[in-house]
Amino acid sequence: MCGIVGYTGPREAYPIVITGLKRLEYRGYDSTGVALLNGGLKVYKKKGRVADLEENVLGKDLHSNIGIGHTRWATHGEPSDRNAHPHTSGSGKLAMIHNGIIENYAQIKKELLNKGYHFTSDTDTEVLLNFIEDINKNNECNLEEAVRIALKRITGAYCILLIDEDDPETIIAARKGSPLVIGVGKGEHFLGSDASPMLEYTKEVVYVNDYELAIVRPDELILKNLGNEKVTPFVTKLDMELAAIEKGGYDHFMLKEIFEQPSTILDCLRGRLDANAGTITMSGVQKNIEALKSAHRIIIVACGTSWHAGLVAEYIIEELCRIPVEVEYASEFRYRNPVINKGDIIIAVSQSGETADTLVAIEKAKEQGAVIFGIVNAVGSSIARISDGGAYTHAGPEIGVASTKAFTGQLVVLTMMALKIAKEKGSISDERYRHLLQELADVPEKVAALLKNADDLKIIAEKYKDASDALFLGRGYNFPIALEGALKLKEISYIHAEGYPAAEMKHGPIALVTETLPVVFVATKDSYHEKIVSNIQEIKARKGKVIAIVSEGDEVIPGLADDVFFVPPADELVAPILSCVPLQLLSYYMGIVRGVDVDKPRNLAKSVTVE
Ligand code: GLU
Repeated sequence: MCGIVGYTGPREAYPIVITGLKRLEYRGYDSTGVALLNGGLKVYKKKGRVADLEENVLGKDLHSNIGIGHTRWATHGEPSDRNAHPHTSGSGKLAMIHNGIIENYAQIKKELLNKGYHFTSDTDTEVLLNFIEDINKNNECNLEEAVRIALKRITGAYCILLIDEDDPETIIAARKGSPLVIGVGKGEHFLGSDASPMLEYTKEVVYVNDYELAIVRPDELILKNLGNEKVTPFVTKLDMELAAIEKGGYDHFMLKEIFEQPSTILDCLRGRLDANAGTITMSGVQKNIEALKSAHRIIIVACGTSWHAGLVAEYIIEELCRIPVEVEYASEFRYRNPVINKGDIIIAVSQSGETADTLVAIEKAKEQGAVIFGIVNAVGSSIARISDGGAYTHAGPEIGVASTKAFTGQLVVLTMMALKIAKEKGSISDERYRHLLQELADVPEKVAALLKNADDLKIIAEKYKDASDALFLGRGYNFPIALEGALKLKEISYIHAEGYPAAEMKHGPIALVTETLPVVFVATKDSYHEKIVSNIQEIKARKGKVIAIVSEGDEVIPGLADDVFFVPPADELVAPILSCVPLQLLSYYMGIVRGVDVDKPRNLAKSVTVE
């Protein structure tokens, strides 16, 4: 995780780095630091948010035309001033920031301790930095070569930016596993974990690949591989505006992103789904259609919210395409010895496209010959680049740490994909296919309609704000939505919540039901409706409090539930895209009444680039 920014050029570096760090704060926010060069190395760092550092440096000399900055998500050593990045080398001449984990740091640290090195932090980063300095001193090689030698010795993941007092215009950068974008300006360069820090300065960017090293000067960008061979930088044009990463009048990014869903879903459908013509155009799917149609098995690998989207897709793909689907936690999939056969398709789902667990899982599957299909939101991200085919969710930058609009985008893409495969395969009737296309086309309007009643959820949140636990129950296509609702509530309000298939409740969780336990039923009208009504009765018989998400026109559940939220009726395959939205709002309002910083809840970070 962590956000990284760098600048070298004629402008003042500090404001660029600080503004960039604020935009990247979603990636980590337990400590912040910057390093500048102005007649010597100056490092300012502090436990806490970017705003805390800004306050701390008031009145200090911040003049510099080169700078690197970091907002941390601690892995090695608690969040503290001394563990904050940038770290300084033993000689005091080098400063470095790092995103990732150096897995063999302990061994290297031992070697360096034996040589008399001292460490002022508990981080793996400081070890790598001194390792580089040690090689630089003892091998009679320049710093660039020392970095290369060091990186070949370490295992783990990194994106590093390094500056040297003796070479005051140059930033040396390198990546493996953690993202790095370089913005190319006129006589200046910008570096970032994503493109947001450079948006107002340049639209020309280079996405650095794994095992590449960049030597960045105001007028020069040299890209090399670890074998010291030059690589031609591939410059792409950014298709993102500044407004997309600003709050636009909303109190929080999370709320803005929830309310953006009618338009982000429309963007996701646009140019792909034509309900009148009965067509779905997805070039990534089309390119791999033979492999997808004849797949013996589809394995969806993902983490967190994306994993829940995968579970919904399992139900939909099996129903429409009659292809067996397994949904795997990427972190488990990659460390066990999974059976991957010829004819298996892997679908990787990730908002950021940088999720380390998912990335490594698909690299491993690729080695074993699987066809990889990536569904990601961040354009140009690592997963997008290593997949054989894929589809973007087109939800735009998602800044709130809890995923909302990216999730509905994933559901839409996966449903379209299932429909396209089913159509090509002939496993769906024309009538059902056309009906579902129309149902999908209607989703943006239906989400807009239900958002008009968002205040009802504010009232419900107020009523249950003191709950210590909550249960989320659903069946069929809505079962993963119950899991997602519970995850969202945990993340955003810190209320302990569990999601279960509604029928499983009687096999254990029902023991938790008391007069104070809110039980959220995701119970839109579908083929399980009567069954879930019985489950609601079972909770009511034990005096639990029932909050129900139901379809407009439902005449049974409103008579049983303590609180109800209505969503427009929809086909059961499409209903999850609607029923998840009130759960996002419920978590948001619950977080707000409980005083949580909903965009940056404790311990979390958005782009999970560590394993
Ligand atoms: N492993 C480093 C640390 O704990 C970097 C963590 C990050 O990516 O923020 O400081």
